[in-house]
Amino acid sequence: MTTTSLGAREMERRLGFAEHAERGRRARQLSLWRDSLLGAAWLVTVAGVAFFFASGAMAWTAPVDAVNALGRFTGLVATALILFQMGLASRAPWIERALGHDKALKIHGSLGEPVFYLLVAHAALLVVGQGSLASRGILDQTAWYLAHSRDIALSILSLALLLIVGVTSVAAVRRRWPYETWHAIHLFTYAAIALAVPHQFGVGSTFSSSTPAKVFWIALYVIAVGSLVIWRMWMPLYRAARHRLRVMRVERHDDGTVSVTVGGRNLHYWNAHAGQFFIWRFLTPELWATAHPYSLSAAPDGRSLRITVKPLGDDSLALRRLRPGVRVVAEGPLGRFHHDSRVGRGVVLIGAGVGITPLRAMLEDKRAQRGECTVILRASTYLEAPLLDEIRQLAVTQGATLYEVIGPRGKGWSTPDGPQSLSQIIPRLSTCDVFVCGPEKWSARVKADARHHGVPEEAIHAEEFAW
Ligand SMILES: Cc1cc2nc3c(=O)[nH]c(=O)nc-3n(C[C@H](O)[C@H](O)[C@H](O)COP(=O)(O)OP(=O)(O)OC[C@H]3O[C@@H](n4cnc5c(N)ncnc54)[C@H](O)[C@@H]3O)c2cc1C
Repeated sequence: MTTTSLGAREMERRLGFAEHAERGRRARQLSLWRDSLLGAAWLVTVAGVAFFFASGAMAWTAPVDAVNALGRFTGLVATALILFQMGLASRAPWIERALGHDKALKIHGSLGEPVFYLLVAHAALLVVGQGSLASRGILDQTAWYLAHSRDIALSILSLALLLIVGVTSVAAVRRRWPYETWHAIHLFTYAAIALAVPHQFGVGSTFSSSTPAKVFWIALYVIAVGSLVIWRMWMPLYRAARHRLRVMRVERHDDGTVSVTVGGRNLHYWNAHAGQFFIWRFLTPELWATAHPYSLSAAPDGRSLRITVKPLGDDSLALRRLRPGVRVVAEGPLGRFHHDSRVGRGVVLIGAGVGITPLRAMLEDKRAQRGECTVILRASTYLEAPLLDEIRQLAVTQGATLYEVIGPRGKGWSTPDGPQSLSQIIPRLSTCDVFVCGPEKWSARVKADARHHGVPEEAIHAEEFAW
């Protein structure tokens, strides 16, 4: 383990009031975005429920009416949640500003199960409810729907597709599949959503009977589908054409990682921050079909963007075969793992293995004031510590303190003979922001250590290289 550093007091004097005020302004802005998003979600929910009640759904004359009303209500809530899920996966800037990509995807994923159960309840309650009104059993009613209602037959197909997507998204099942296969099945969702639309307007009494309700529901679809089309399809293609992204350089490193530098025109318009990632698609016969997230491994300079990748599977391995001139499509910048998310005074950048890449970029970033960064590089051997020479050099130029914690696993996040806690090596840890990037379990130990020593939750920032 080795060290170099500048005094904490000197660091504090330089920070000054202005930077603190600026942080306060950013924190207020962030909560404004979050509150607005939450407010919008509540507004949509209240409006949806109001339209449901206004449609006379609660005018029950017999218990079966309650069954049918509940059947319609569960369908309404499930569809509203699905549209919300689409918004969360759209990578739209307001989602990105309010939540950051990984949090948005976590919420997206966590809504999958409730949506699944609500849709099954929706179908079951209406088959039973409508069947009992027509004196038909469950199978007869289902057969009747398939034979007499095209819209409902389509929605039954939609439910079958969503059940497949639901089952394959269960973690235990998902882990067994290559990411690409899982992702391809996940795309069934869009077909399922489209197949369910006709019965919502054709059969669903909430939206077929009232024009304001119909306009409201169509508007929700336009916002959800529109965000996806614009931010997941149109913008990446438009930007690739406008900025003419191309591979400029491919460097293979001794530790097996490869750095790819992508150049283009007016990249500063993207306002990418060191620490952020993009979802990259390299337009070669081998790689064009899949896009992968990789973090920037150097601070963006307005002319180029660099990533450094450890081969993990086919596509990350294939990057070493890239040649200068290859066209690139990049979605982003994404993630809130950067200096503008800071709320504290000092900065701790701690990464394991290839997880050091975004932290190396943050160390180089001009927003990092000289002497305020502490970098902790964790790896089992020096061969698994990418970009080490660059990090050592940057630590000197940035006056940062660098700890190389190399060796076998110890109890916590460190080695048996290394520092057993962040507080041992970082004075005033509780006033710092801690940026951690590495394998999930290891990051969890670092975060627990930081929390244990008083680092507030909003000052702990984690990036995980797996979704
Ligand atoms: C936000 C983020 C930033 C990342 N930054 C870097 C980086 O700077 N350097 C680096 O070496 N790696 C990084 N990764 C990990 C990198 O994306 C995966 O290693 C890569 O996608 C593996 O693809 P593959 O085809 O080679 O391997 P596969 O064998 O297909 O997959 C290996 C693992 O990677 C995951 N994975 C595969 N494809 C994707 C995908 N499109 N999206 C998300 N996960 C996927 C799979 O779930 C699987 O666990 C990052 C991941 C995330 C989520």
